Amino acid sequence: MSIAFIGLGNMGGPMAHNLLKAGQKVYGFDLSEQALQQFAQAGGVVCQSPQEAARQAEVVISMLPAAKHVKDVYLGENGILSVLKAGAYCIDSSTIDPQTIQQIAEVAKARHIAVCDAPVSGGTLGAQAGTLTFMVGAEHDTLIAVSSVLKHMGSNIVHCGDVGTGQIAKICNNLILGISMAAVAEGMALGAQLGIDPQALAGVINSSTGRCWSSEVYNPWPGICPNAPASRGYRDGFAAQLMLKDLGLALQAAAQVDQSVVLGEFVQQYYQQLCDQGQGHLDFSNIIQHYLPEPALA
Ligand code: NAD
Repeated sequence: MSIAFIGLGNMGGPMAHNLLKAGQKVYGFDLSEQALQQFAQAGGVVCQSPQEAARQAEVVISMLPAAKHVKDVYLGENGILSVLKAGAYCIDSSTIDPQTIQQIAEVAKARHIAVCDAPVSGGTLGAQAGTLTFMVGAEHDTLIAVSSVLKHMGSNIVHCGDVGTGQIAKICNNLILGISMAAVAEGMALGAQLGIDPQALAGVINSSTGRCWSSEVYNPWPGICPNAPASRGYRDGFAAQLMLKDLGLALQAAAQVDQSVVLGEFVQQYYQQLCDQGQGHLDFSNIIQHYLPEPALA
């Protein structure tokens, strides 16, 4: 199968790598020269534009920062929908609002191209290990067709319903994640300030009722989880600016249905402050900085 991969960043890069490892032919495009170099080293075919990649493809996967990038790649002046063959499948794994992907799917349907949303959970570690969870919004036939590609990048494929419902699942999940990371950071920082060894505290939390993904797999305190961004200077993870974007999507969706999201609104301010301080590119677990005097993490 020939696959076009648009957006080879922290997530898309390792996802494309796993497709190549599985023996798929992958045509890739990214705006970043460095991302393209790494993709070429892994055996991918570098293209000069999204259209050039899509022209060759039966399946397109996009993994882009936000809705405006996705809209531009699919529907823009040089958008891929105008060059894809009828019968092609498109999988957008970016985290965006449900309406944008529904709009793209409508345009695509008129050209006999099936578009689905398949945002992911599992972070950069899951992308590298090929153990992502895909939350798929698609018609049944599309789900069956795209599952044969998604299985090379993830270990869990969840059908959420029609196009757009994958994004609904994703933004609700990330609302919880943004809040739970802040909760773990608050508890870890308080424990350290009160004098307990952070390793001992994490050990207790992770065998007690405070346990969650943010405490066990992705602990914000350095050194607790050797593979987590906190243990490498909060680099190469899920950027705080992306978490801020996701909370914005959740709050916007909540406003549409008049639902209150008090905790979400509260932690949104903390991630906003990280971004305002020029730390938006660092992992979102860096939210722990809010709770500590500067030298405590040195
Ligand atoms: P990233 O910034 O590392 O990668 C995005 C890539 O898209 C960049 O390499 C950028 O150069 C490229 N790009 C931007 N515009 C482009 C265009 N027009 N054409 C081609 N390439 C373009 O971001 P990421 O961490 O890989 O996240 C990608 C998406 O996945 C986001 O929507 C994010 O919310 C979501 N996500 C990220 C994580 C994570 O842990 N990083 C986890 C789950 C979901």
